[in-house]
Amino acid sequence: MSAKQLDPLDLYDIRSELSEDEVMVKDSVGRFVDDRVIPLMQEAFEKHVFPRHLVAEVAELGLLGSSIEGYDCAGLNSVSYGLICQELERGDSGLRSFVSVQSSLVMYPIHAYGSEEQKQRWLPAMARGEAIGCFGLTEAHGGSDPGNMKTHAKRDGDDWILNGSKMWITNATIADAAVVWAMTEEGVKGFIVEKDMPGFETQEIENKFSLRTSITGALFFDNVRIPEASVLPGVSTLKGPLGCLTQARYGISWGVIGAAQACLDEALRYSEDRVLFDRPVAHTQSMQIRLADMARRITTSQLLSLRLGRIKDKGELSPSQVSLAKWNNCRAALDIARDARDILGAAGISAEYVPIRHMLNLESVITYEGTETIHQLVIGQELTGVNAFG
Ligand SMILES: Cc1cc2nc3c(=O)[nH]c(=O)nc-3n(C[C@H](O)[C@H](O)[C@H](O)COP(=O)(O)OP(=O)(O)OC[C@H]3O[C@@H](n4cnc5c(N)ncnc54)[C@H](O)[C@@H]3O)c2cc1C
Repeated sequence: MSAKQLDPLDLYDIRSELSEDEVMVKDSVGRFVDDRVIPLMQEAFEKHVFPRHLVAEVAELGLLGSSIEGYDCAGLNSVSYGLICQELERGDSGLRSFVSVQSSLVMYPIHAYGSEEQKQRWLPAMARGEAIGCFGLTEAHGGSDPGNMKTHAKRDGDDWILNGSKMWITNATIADAAVVWAMTEEGVKGFIVEKDMPGFETQEIENKFSLRTSITGALFFDNVRIPEASVLPGVSTLKGPLGCLTQARYGISWGVIGAAQACLDEALRYSEDRVLFDRPVAHTQSMQIRLADMARRITTSQLLSLRLGRIKDKGELSPSQVSLAKWNNCRAALDIARDARDILGAAGISAEYVPIRHMLNLESVITYEGTETIHQLVIGQELTGVNAFG
């Protein structure tokens, strides 16, 4: 048996399972996060601002729409996309949310369901960070039940007239284009609504205690006239938006591992330095059990997401497999962040340390893209064949 020193944040040596290209992606995004993201996130969180100058920098690194081939996108595999999310969220869930929305919820549907003209117009600009997108599915009366959407569009000659509103939309007030899902007589359709179209308004949701470095807002549509050329031609059922959510949820399952790693890292350092009753608190049995439990949860999350990524790259991914990882990994990360906050004692409530920021962020991450209950019901349906949502 070798006495090899294990990496506390990677006990099963996931790194050795990665290809050379995947390691390169992980390390270059990791360096960017260490140098450019972590130093400014505490202040950005306290001031409740999205550090917008980072958009050009993540674009320069090829992190926007990174899974798309062509259209000035990087064409990376799914594991690389996961590693990007993990490293970004080690910095802050807000920046990872920006990249997830732009990549999985806006560029993905334009690429998967859009016309060639729509792809040419939007994808290269979005990859370069010159155009920002948002994704409007949730409505105020209940995000878990998107089939009950009230936002609707009617044909009027060659155009469509869109009415309704969307709530809790990431990037709402900074988006150049919103991919909006609306009910029509022909089913659920996706509309690319541009920021200066008459009748389209946005409003920021202020005073959030979570995801304070990310912009969240509402979208309002009052008889917005939309040309047929701005309707996504490739889909007219709820499968359209749900397909986007599968992409984004996959990335989130990786992302939250980064937040959990940042919390374990801080808890390890703090409990080693903190001397109580004449010894570092890390040397007590009960503290070691708590730290071990964090490592167990991180390791199982890493294994789930890596396996999921390999399945996705084979093109065999099922949405219920993504639900299992999103549920497990968000729950694990949130529990780790809450416990790390407690391990730091009073210091744990200070913005000087990362756990409370990650903990507050993860309260959003466990809710958006399907709450824990929704993912449990997706898996229940997979196991029993019975839809128990209603
Ligand atoms: C910071 C942030 C950013 C977001 N960004 C976006 C975005 O960019 N685009 C977008 O479209 N949406 C976005 N959302 C919305 C998000 O996806 C929804 O909040 C989420 O789907 C839950 O919807 P809801 O908040 O309306 O909760 P509800 O659907 O009202 O759920 C309330 C509670 O009921 C539970 N519940 C639901 N159904 C059942 C059931 N069948 N049985 C038992 N319990 C049930 C839920 O688990 C939850 O605990 C964002 C949300 C946040 C917080």
